[in-house]
Amino acid sequence: MIKWFDRYIQTDNHYFLITHSLKAFILSYKNVGEHDRRYFLLSREFGKIEAISRSVLKPKSKLVGHLEPPNFSWVEVIESAKGFQITQALEELSFPGIRSSHPALKNVLKNAGFISEFLPFPFFKHHQARVLAPAEVFQFWAGYLKTMETSFALKTELDLDLFEAELVLLVLKKLGFLPDFFRCFGCEKQLNNEIAVFFDGRSFCPECSKKKNIPGEKISPKAFADFSRILEQDWLLVSENKDLIKKIAFYFQKQAYAYML
Ligand SMILES: [Zn+2]
Repeated sequence: MIKWFDRYIQTDNHYFLITHSLKAFILSYKNVGEHDRRYFLLSREFGKIEAISRSVLKPKSKLVGHLEPPNFSWVEVIESAKGFQITQALEELSFPGIRSSHPALKNVLKNAGFISEFLPFPFFKHHQARVLAPAEVFQFWAGYLKTMETSFALKTELDLDLFEAELVLLVLKKLGFLPDFFRCFGCEKQLNNEIAVFFDGRSFCPECSKKKNIPGEKISPKAFADFSRILEQDWLLVSENKDLIKKIAFYFQKQAYAYML
């Protein structure tokens, strides 16, 4: 990656072309004009990239099926001063289990949109990025899809919203949007073994919440244990604390959206 970066910034003309062979998740796309599409891809090497595919919507084009979100595909892209252009693509994983369920596919595409919106582009807009962590987010997304696909194959119980909340927590943490709610906002004590109170994006220990008369949601030691497991990418299919996990994850996601706007 560093090598690529050096090559990029040292190339001081507008005529260079570099061909990259990548494995990437297809996150989303936008139609451009009559026949072209602009794709957002998530690759291990570059994080999120935006790449145009010319004539992909012409009837003769064979590429479009290989570039269907949320596929994992091999793609060949040509990089020039204008950006990336997709020249070839071959689908490797198409997630038939997820596709077999309309709610699951809908949820996955929504979360692909979230990743696509929140992840910074590498280098081009790097000054806007708080933390640039393509490899980790690639891994989160891979884990999320793989666990969901496996659970459909094995027909195990799975809570789609809980899964979404787990992904959101991981991504927000990596991008610096998740405050340390494992620590009391009042006295900064570590919270693990007591019932804390969550209010307005902050956690309070029993003493501080009592002293300041803070109302709010209770976070039990078991719930803290679930949050720790989630942040270690130990995907929970079900949890008795699912309502709290969703509430906290979507609270911080909303805050992050407000910050981005
Ligand atoms: Zn405290």
